[in-house]
Amino acid sequence: MPQNAPIQDPTPANPVPIKLTTSFTSELSADKSQSTMPRQVAGAAFSRTNPATFSQPTLVSWNADLASQLGLEELTNEPAYAANVFSGQRLLEGSDPYAMAYGGHQFGNWAGQLGDGRAIALGDVTQADGTLRTLQLKGAGPTPYSRRADGLAVLRSSIREYLASEAMFHLGVPTTRALSLVLTGDQVLRDMLYDGNPALEPGAIVCRTAESFIRFGNFELPTSRGDIDQLRELADYTIRHHFGHLSDAQNPTAETYVEWFEEICQSTAKLMVDWLRVGFVHGVMNTDNMSIHGITIDYGPYGWVDDFDPAWTPNTTDSTHRRYRFGNQGAVGQWNVLQLANALVPLVEETTALEKAVNDYVPTFKSLHQAMMADKIGLQYSPASEDTDIVEELLQILASTETDMTIFYRRLATIDADTKDPLNAISDAYYDQTTLVGETRERINNWMQSYQKLLPTVGSDAAAQRTTLMNSVNPCYVLRNYLAQETIDAATEGDFSRMDQLAKVLENPYEQQAGAEKFAEKRPDWARNRAGCSMLSCSS
Ligand code: AMP
Ligand code: MG
Repeated sequence: MPQNAPIQDPTPANPVPIKLTTSFTSELSADKSQSTMPRQVAGAAFSRTNPATFSQPTLVSWNADLASQLGLEELTNEPAYAANVFSGQRLLEGSDPYAMAYGGHQFGNWAGQLGDGRAIALGDVTQADGTLRTLQLKGAGPTPYSRRADGLAVLRSSIREYLASEAMFHLGVPTTRALSLVLTGDQVLRDMLYDGNPALEPGAIVCRTAESFIRFGNFELPTSRGDIDQLRELADYTIRHHFGHLSDAQNPTAETYVEWFEEICQSTAKLMVDWLRVGFVHGVMNTDNMSIHGITIDYGPYGWVDDFDPAWTPNTTDSTHRRYRFGNQGAVGQWNVLQLANALVPLVEETTALEKAVNDYVPTFKSLHQAMMADKIGLQYSPASEDTDIVEELLQILASTETDMTIFYRRLATIDADTKDPLNAISDAYYDQTTLVGETRERINNWMQSYQKLLPTVGSDAAAQRTTLMNSVNPCYVLRNYLAQETIDAATEGDFSRMDQLAKVLENPYEQQAGAEKFAEKRPDWARNRAGCSMLSCSS
């Protein structure tokens, strides 16, 4: 295991003058100890922690577009320096590396202190518009929150985090983003399938960015310890820096906390609807993995649904109860905001307003979901019960026989009011055509008939608009699990060109791209039950 060593920079001159600021460490209470020994950290929002030393950091992926947005474009021509910076071997000016203290509810149970066990934030860059983005290294060595683990990450999980967060960004789903992928040059021991067969894997570090990495669990931890001063300090900091538009943001009152919480409920509901729209299953929606910004964070054993199945989860750790299954994510979102509400109770005089916000999550989620589904099938939002029925029936028929979710909606856009044999037009969305008989066939045909009756007249402006709208919310390319796995297999052999190629295609997920047909295909049969393609453990 690499040791945490103070960074000694042999080169006095900074080849690229970039300055970070770190309000998290300058404004909040710090852990008094500097030791990285795993322990309980009380009365502090973070622990100063230097990244570990690695033998040979090598930059293997660099997100030049994101780098220029972050004002880091000069690093694009300095891969060796970037490899050192984004593995924590060289610190940029103003950097004050830290790991955050947080707790969380894991699979429905309070788990106590968790914290950044293998994430170390370097500080914030200032973008051209004046907004800040935190740079955080994932897998840069142990912190006081590492518990019994090593603080490291392996190549396969780092590629998965990099590709998924970028795929989500380009799909229009709020998310952290990935700036770089560095191979550390060291090997890391992992029991990938938790079956008693550990093996050495290449170690890697992703540098990810977000407005902040503050989670529901950051507030749950101080409340669980009855440390209300710590809770208030962090809540006020968060509102001051990230929710400045709220009333009295500089000096929050009980109303400010409620307004803030209401906003988190809304953004969480919206995020869940986005996940359902693109077929994403997070896999580990513990409250320590829930961002207060309503962005997707912590890509672990996630997956994209190939065949539409609301009961599917890619996470083998959750295969019995399937708490975090695809179709349960909206409900879990509400359970999670309830935990956050409980954490914020000490800040408000009375709880009615928090309760109301938790309850309002349901109608908010439902109306966003209804509007999203109406967009997906190309029917403008209408509260008519007829439209709700057609969505309900559709979700049932999609699950009744293996139907590729992504392909289905793209093909549906090609059907119009007088398409003669609509089932034929969508037939390649089905994994097994021989199941399209009897009752199943009749049910799909009946649905198509009712659907076609609702479609605008062929040749009208509305008909053209419908196709455009559908294709703007229904991606043609998603990060299918087997595509990620193929990329990982190639990268493990030293070939990162596949990763670059896939990342490029995923930059325009709604546009059919010539030559990219293979990335839009159904999951091949070999991938149906292969580890990494249909099931993943938390080992990463
Ligand atoms: P996750 O469910 O992956 O978000 O992780 C839950 C907790 O375990 C967090 O506190 C992580 O920081 C911690 N963790 C996961 N993997 C490691 C690791 N390899 N070393 C140290 N801590 C880890
Ligand atoms: Mg996590």
